[in-house]
Amino acid sequence: MDSRLAADLGDLPDLLTAARDYAAGILDGLDDRPAAVPPSDAVPMPLPAGGLGAAKALELFRDRWAPGFSGSAGPRYLGFVTGGATPAALLGDWLTGTFDQNACTRQDSSAVDLERETVAWLRSLFGLKDDFSGTFVTGATMSNTVGLAIGREWLGERRGVSVARQGVAALGDVTVLSGSPHSSVYKALSMLGIGRDQLRTVPVPAGREAVDVDALDAALSEAGGPAIVVANAGTVNTVDFDDLRAIAALKHRHDFWLHVDAAFGGFAALVPEHRHLVDGLDLADSICVDLHKWLNVPYDAAIQFTRRQDLQVSIFQNAAAYLTAPGTDPDLFHLTPENSRRLRALPAWFALAAYGADGHREIVERSIALARRFGDAVATLPGARLLSPVRLNVVCLATDRDVAAVLKAVVASGETFLTPTVYNGVPALRAAFSNWRTRAADVDRVIAVLREALTS
Ligand SMILES: *Cc1c(COP(=O)(O)O)cnc(C)c1O
Repeated sequence: MDSRLAADLGDLPDLLTAARDYAAGILDGLDDRPAAVPPSDAVPMPLPAGGLGAAKALELFRDRWAPGFSGSAGPRYLGFVTGGATPAALLGDWLTGTFDQNACTRQDSSAVDLERETVAWLRSLFGLKDDFSGTFVTGATMSNTVGLAIGREWLGERRGVSVARQGVAALGDVTVLSGSPHSSVYKALSMLGIGRDQLRTVPVPAGREAVDVDALDAALSEAGGPAIVVANAGTVNTVDFDDLRAIAALKHRHDFWLHVDAAFGGFAALVPEHRHLVDGLDLADSICVDLHKWLNVPYDAAIQFTRRQDLQVSIFQNAAAYLTAPGTDPDLFHLTPENSRRLRALPAWFALAAYGADGHREIVERSIALARRFGDAVATLPGARLLSPVRLNVVCLATDRDVAAVLKAVVASGETFLTPTVYNGVPALRAAFSNWRTRAADVDRVIAVLREALTS
């Protein structure tokens, strides 16, 4: 054994304590860490031939790289839709690396069973029936991709071909319809060989991002055969929701696969007052929900639900002499793009075990209340206006001053990070609330820097 490696093995408990102390200090200082840090100008260092040992590597990381890391896990990072990591989720993440299970088969470990328990907990959290199976993937992009892959295989079934065996060319023309799809849906269609250009956006009513169901009905008639519909439950600019129940009802007249991108909007199901927004979610054929956003587990984790695990197996099966056959109870390497895979269910398992449905409902309710507080305050800021009502946890605002300049000033303050966007042709800023640490005082601090940037 390499001498550094042998020494680290001997010192392992002390090394873990050092990492623990360092991590505790970082988390303790999260509130003061700049929300966003400019890109590093660090000159790449050559690979050390003789290693440094873990203790020196920790020092090197601490000095060379950590100062450039953002406060994205902290309370005032409002860019994209970004969750933090609750204490229990972080514990689960540490232990994922500690046990280092390859959660793909039940041949040697109960890790897969833990993942299944977690899937069942999530199914119940989102109010889904037991006929949905679920698997963990890296993020909503991959969840959308897997869901649409199953939809693609379903289209093949309808047309009497197997895309998994014959390739996507056997499918012929594919119609994919959606009102305000997330960019990752285009990426998924590109990866799946369907093609970005096959996505036809269906009109949305004025001032909305939710699909016009009558227009969708007409587009399905025009498609004239089986199609794929991507419904959106929570759009990134204005958190608008398609009417899932009305869309599902179109199945009485048209043949289509219904995929729902509920990356963060799915969490509306946790709150009685907002549950109606995802009414009909249960009628989907496949569903995407991100977990590193509103569940506040560390990157990277999302869940992919479907009712057609049989089709999922035909796409992702990985038959080999030394592996289990994909029977009625398929191992996980028959269900996801990966074969070997980390036990990314463990942080979610810890979070759900530690805080339960109630704890997670509180996080979602508080995020929504904070978005409202922020929206109300924006309405009083000189030179700022809301571009849509605050429907859930994202506030979309336009400013009289150049958005890029406002953003630059706000980010330079270190107080917050917002993301720029364009909504209805208007350059805008988005503030998304999904971190468990955020409190009312944080909203007030962000409003103060915005006011400063707008008036100074
Ligand atoms: C974030 C998001 C995605 C993509 O999620 P990743 O976790 O970045 O892959 C897809 N759809 C919606 C609606 C999202 O908000």
